[in-house]
Amino acid sequence: MTTPVYENFINGHFLKNQSGDTFAVKNPATDEVIYYVEVADEFIQNAAIESAKQGFAAWSAMTPIERSRILLKAVSILRERNDELAKVEVLDTGKPWQEAECVDVETGADVIEYFAGLAPAQVGQQQMVGNDFYYTRKEPLGICAGIGAWNYPLQIACWKSGPALAAGNAVIFKPSEETPLGAIKLAEIFIEAGVPAGVFNVVQGAGEVGQWLTANPDIEKVSFTGEVGTGKKVMASAAGSLKDVTMELGGKSPLLVFDDADVSQAVSAAMLGNFYTQGEVCTNCTRIYVHKNVYQQFIDELKTRTEQNIIAGDPMDPEVNLGALISKKHQELVLSYIDKGISEGATLLTGGKALSPASAPNGYFVEPTIFVDCKDDMTIVKEEIFGPVMSVLVFDDEDDVIRRANDTHLGLAAGVFTKDIQRAHRVIHQLQAGICWINSYGNSPAEMPVGGYKQSGIGRENGIETLDHYTQTKSIYVGMSNIESPF
Ligand code: NDP
Repeated sequence: MTTPVYENFINGHFLKNQSGDTFAVKNPATDEVIYYVEVADEFIQNAAIESAKQGFAAWSAMTPIERSRILLKAVSILRERNDELAKVEVLDTGKPWQEAECVDVETGADVIEYFAGLAPAQVGQQQMVGNDFYYTRKEPLGICAGIGAWNYPLQIACWKSGPALAAGNAVIFKPSEETPLGAIKLAEIFIEAGVPAGVFNVVQGAGEVGQWLTANPDIEKVSFTGEVGTGKKVMASAAGSLKDVTMELGGKSPLLVFDDADVSQAVSAAMLGNFYTQGEVCTNCTRIYVHKNVYQQFIDELKTRTEQNIIAGDPMDPEVNLGALISKKHQELVLSYIDKGISEGATLLTGGKALSPASAPNGYFVEPTIFVDCKDDMTIVKEEIFGPVMSVLVFDDEDDVIRRANDTHLGLAAGVFTKDIQRAHRVIHQLQAGICWINSYGNSPAEMPVGGYKQSGIGRENGIETLDHYTQTKSIYVGMSNIESPF
C-alpha cells in the first residue's frame, strides 16, 4: 500500500503545491511514517490569502443565525464521526484511545456548538446623547490565523475556528507539523456542513509557515497555542502589522493539598494532572505542594496507584491509559529533565526511565515519574517538562505555600484541595493563575474562559468574552438635529 500524501486545503479543496516539498508524519507509538504532507510554499500561501478574502466576503455577508445553522451541522458531523476522528488523533499524537474517544472530538465539537449558539445573541448597544444617539455594531475582524500545538490537534483547531467563524471571520489554520491531519478533517467537515469555500483553510509546514502567517499584513489576528518562547516570536512578528493576538502558552502549575483535604481525591487530581495524555497538557499541575501532616499518606497512595493502575502500550488498545510521547526528540528531552532532577538531588519515588511496552516496543514512551524531596529552585520544579513527570514538595504554612506557588514567571493554572470552604476561596483568590480549580482538576468546559496570567498567555479562549475578541466594535453617531458650527 502506498503511503498517502496530503495537500494543503485551500478554497474548499486540496491544492497541490509547486515546490513539491513534503514532510513525513510518524505514529509516535510505532516510529513508522504514516503519511506525508505537502509544505505550503509561496504559491499555496498566496492562494490561501486570496481564498480567505473571498471566503470572508461570502461568510460575513450571511446573518449570524445562518452561520450558526451551518456550524451546528458541522457539530453533528463531528459527533457522528467521533470514532474515525479520534483514531486520527491517536495515530498522530500517540495518546490513548480511551481518552481520544471521549474527549478530543467531543470537547472540540462542544466549543463550536457553544459559539454557534452564542453568535446570534451578540448585540451592540445604543444610547441617547441629548437628542442625538449612537449605536454600535459588532463586526468581524476579517482573516484570522490559528496556529496550533500538537497535543490536542483537532480540539485546538475547533477551539480557534469556533468563535472565529461564529463571529463571521475567515480562518487560515496551521496545525503543528507533527499532527497535521485533524485540521484537514475539520476543513472537510466544514465544507460538507455548508461553510462556503475559503472560510476555513489549512496550510501545512513548520515554523516558517507560522512565521509567514504572523507577518502577513492581510491577516488581522493570530490565535496561537504553543510554547512561551515561540509565543514571544509570534507576538513580535505580529507587531509589525499591529495584529490582535491571543496567546495560549505553557505552564508550571501548582496544586496545593491541605491537611483537611480528601487525600484520595487529591491523589486522583495529581495523577490526572500529570499523567493524562502522558503529561502533555498545558494546565498540568506539575508542582504538587502537600501539607506535612498528610504528606506520607499522600505519597504512599500516589506511589501505589501509579505503579498498579497505569497501563502503557499500543494506544489503540482500549485498556491502555498511558500513550507515547509525541516524538523521539521530545522523549529524549523529557528523559534529560529526569536526569537533571536526579543530579540536582530530588528522589525518584517511581518511574524515571524510557518504556518499551510489548504491544508498542518502538514507541516513545516514558514511565510515569514522580520526584519527592524536591526544592523550589530545582530545574524540574521551575521549567515546563511536558511529559509524565511530577514533582512533590512539602509545606507547613498557608501564606508561605501561596508565596512559593506564585514564585514563577508562568501563571496558567492552579488548584487547591481542602474541605474548608473559606480557605479554598481565600487561597485560590491569591494564586496568580488564569484557570483555577477547587477540589477538582483539569475540566475545561466550553462555557468557562481559559487562558494564562503572566507569561502563560494573553487573552482567553472559550466563554462569552472570547466572541468579543473575534469582533471589532464600530460606533455610529446619528445626528437628529442641525449641526452647530462656528464656520
Ligand atoms: P511550539 O511553540 O513549538 O509550536 C506551536 C506551533 O507554532 C506549531 O504549529 C509550530 O510549528 C509553530 N511555530 C513554530 N515556530 C513558529 C514561529 N516562529 N512563528 C509562528 N509559528 C511557529 O509548541 P508545541 O507544538 O511544542 O506545543 C507544546 C507547547 O504548547 C507547550 O509549551 C504547552 O504548554 C503549550 N500549550 C498550551 C496550551 C494552552 O492552552 N495554554 C494548550 C496546549 C499546549 P511546528 O511545530 O510545525 O514547527
